[in-house]
Amino acid sequence: MKLVLMGLPGAGKGTQAEKIVEKYHIPHISTGDMFRAAIKNGTELGLKAKSYMDKGDLVPDEVTNGIVRDRLAEDDAKDGFLLDGFPRTVDQAKELENILRDLGTELDAVININVDQDVLIERLAGRFICPTCGKTYHTVFNPPKVEGICDLDGSKLYQREDDKRETVENRLAVNLKQTKPLLDFYKETGKLHNINGEQDIDVVFTEVDEILASF
Ligand code: ADP
Ligand code: ADP
Repeated sequence: MKLVLMGLPGAGKGTQAEKIVEKYHIPHISTGDMFRAAIKNGTELGLKAKSYMDKGDLVPDEVTNGIVRDRLAEDDAKDGFLLDGFPRTVDQAKELENILRDLGTELDAVININVDQDVLIERLAGRFICPTCGKTYHTVFNPPKVEGICDLDGSKLYQREDDKRETVENRLAVNLKQTKPLLDFYKETGKLHNINGEQDIDVVFTEVDEILASF
């Protein structure tokens, strides 16, 4: 199963990805997670990405496309993968087609999670993440059992630097501009599935899973 998960920041891509991966055992490939890991490890990629991410701007395509090409060529992605946060522009979507063609394959489906902008801002403001396992929580909508502590491994949860309000607004604006043409691109391929993301996390997953079950 070869999937792309789309949705504005805060739509619930990471949250749904966790559930998809658990059920279908395909690698979760998140460009945002890859950049954050690179920054944490102080690699050259991290240095290139950091200034863009701090402002909520997109990292340039020549950097982003390269890491996706390398990652998709790895062995564990041969039989399936879940791309999260890539592509974000039509140019990236075209490059993804090239990458997959070079690998002798193609996408099965693109799932777009729709959420209104006001709701997104509220979600991002309350998002907390486990530094150890990456699990995402929300102070109100999806709280951990003990405040500030990961249910799975007991680590202290943190808030992403770019989830602070000033950056959030630019991130949403940047993403909104790119999204419409990207959705049009995927609509034309006949692979686009829209999901209402303003429902409980489990209800959203049930709807996602109905689509996945057909592959
Ligand atoms: P969210 O979880 O809020 O949707 P991500 O974790 O996917 O956000 O992305 C965080 C940041 O990483 C983005 O604001 C951007 O700077 C960078 N980034 C992630 N994916 C891409 C991409 N496909 N193209 C360019 N920049 C990206
Ligand atoms: P994305 O990866 O698209 O940026 P996340 O999966 O990180 O989004 O979700 C953003 C925030 O919203 C997190 O704090 C998460 O717990 C919360 N969240 C995700 N899905 C829902 C939902 N269906 N209803 C309410 N809150 C949600």
